[in-house]
Amino acid sequence: MYALDFASNFEVVRSESRCTLCGKCVNECSYGVHQFTADKKALTENNSKCVNCYRCVATCPTKAIKIIRNTQAVNISSNWSANNMREIYLQAATGGVLLSGMGTTKNYPLYWDKLLINAAQVTNPSIDPLREPMETRTYLGKTSVNIRRDASGRLINTLPPHLTLNTPIMFAAMSYGAISYPAHEALAKASTDLGTYYNTGEGGLHHDLYQYGDHTIVQVASGRFGVHRKYLETGAAIEIKIGQGAKPGIGGHLAGAKNIGDISKTRMIPEGSDAISPAPHHDIYSIEDLRQLVYSLKEVTAHKKPIVVKIAAVHNVASIASGIARSGADIIAIDGLRAGTGAAPTQTRDNVGIPIELALAVVDSRLREEGIRNEVSVVASGTIRNSADVIKAIALGADAVYIGTAALIAMGCHMCHGCHTGGCNWGICTQTPQLTKRLNANEAHRQLVNLIEGWTHEVKEMMGGMGINSIEALRGNRLMLRGVGLTDAELKILGVQHAGQ
Ligand code: SF4
Ligand code: SF4
Repeated sequence: MYALDFASNFEVVRSESRCTLCGKCVNECSYGVHQFTADKKALTENNSKCVNCYRCVATCPTKAIKIIRNTQAVNISSNWSANNMREIYLQAATGGVLLSGMGTTKNYPLYWDKLLINAAQVTNPSIDPLREPMETRTYLGKTSVNIRRDASGRLINTLPPHLTLNTPIMFAAMSYGAISYPAHEALAKASTDLGTYYNTGEGGLHHDLYQYGDHTIVQVASGRFGVHRKYLETGAAIEIKIGQGAKPGIGGHLAGAKNIGDISKTRMIPEGSDAISPAPHHDIYSIEDLRQLVYSLKEVTAHKKPIVVKIAAVHNVASIASGIARSGADIIAIDGLRAGTGAAPTQTRDNVGIPIELALAVVDSRLREEGIRNEVSVVASGTIRNSADVIKAIALGADAVYIGTAALIAMGCHMCHGCHTGGCNWGICTQTPQLTKRLNANEAHRQLVNLIEGWTHEVKEMMGGMGINSIEALRGNRLMLRGVGLTDAELKILGVQHAGQ
């Protein structure tokens, strides 16, 4: 027997006394973990197929199932983890590149958790957000350094277009194709209600969602899928995707099996064909080339839309950001190492790039040193997990954040890391009709709105605690942060002092 058959990550434990043999788990599990025996008098499990998505646990009417992590399946040591061994078994069996969904499972430092937020005491009193105004409105785009007035004293507004956010939180790029139609619909409706934006990702925009265009950032990636004039004109902003945190340096791949029906129509490619985005844009090999694309997109939309350039956080991110700021782009989005994805080669996802906290700090510092911070807004993403992470990102220099994984969790994702299989049992990261209908777009919309409203209340609370009454005053205010358990090099890069200083 090949080791892969028994080296399962998870084990299904079924209570025989509670199980009524109703068959719900058999029908609910898209991975085929549960099966009836031939005489239908018992159930068996194929543990090697279980991804721990919790669908059977959540839907079993008698709560007869629990899933446990199988720690003894392979003989691990300090040098060889169970994951290392499973990956080798799998590649020895298939000879293929290993793929994974969601963000890395590796234990890289989470700098958010090593940064602590200040609070006002005695001499600089805190502010009560329930009694006093607290401004979370955020503008993204270029800011003017020269204020000019006309003869009557009115401000002359010659600024390029901006995005106006009621809260400094947007929904990150997740393509239609990677995620389901109801998931996209929920994001579009939630953005509209919240006064913020969601991002189409590289799969184009379904025609039914054009009505939410004022709250949509349309993406132009290297494959140019779904890109046409009306698409560009419909979005409130256009994002050129150069890279993404979960797979820096490589392109994207939507399997032909997922490229069906409206997805192929929206992407404007034949049904059943693989949607492969090249690693580079074939017209961008320098900042000058990028400048040309930025300019072309501005021209085609009559200079009415801000242009975002999205990059992955990599070693020389500060220099790259400096180039982008000089390319005419209005906003830089930086996506860190721990960002999620619908599918990425596991080794790339787990080993390429740098954490967003370090990238954000060096980019903000570099743009300030070069006197060009006003040329662009900076949006940070890649493991923004709660409102405290939002506060810390803004204090490190972000104008706003993108959230992807947190938005999926709000819609019902159980973090099984199986997005690349297309079998998402929660209807989020799948195109199989019997699975997508499990996600109710209205419910998911409400959950997204609740999440962002909750975070925004907490942001106001923490700002008030610091004695700050506007996001503007928090931006890049690293004095509001202190580090714990960080080396001198890390503190220097983050530009914060150690706690106690
Ligand atoms: S859903 Fe629960 S009760 Fe129904 S067959 Fe499965 S384990 Fe048994
Ligand atoms: S979106 Fe679905 S497949 Fe992806 S991690 Fe969440 S539950 Fe699993």
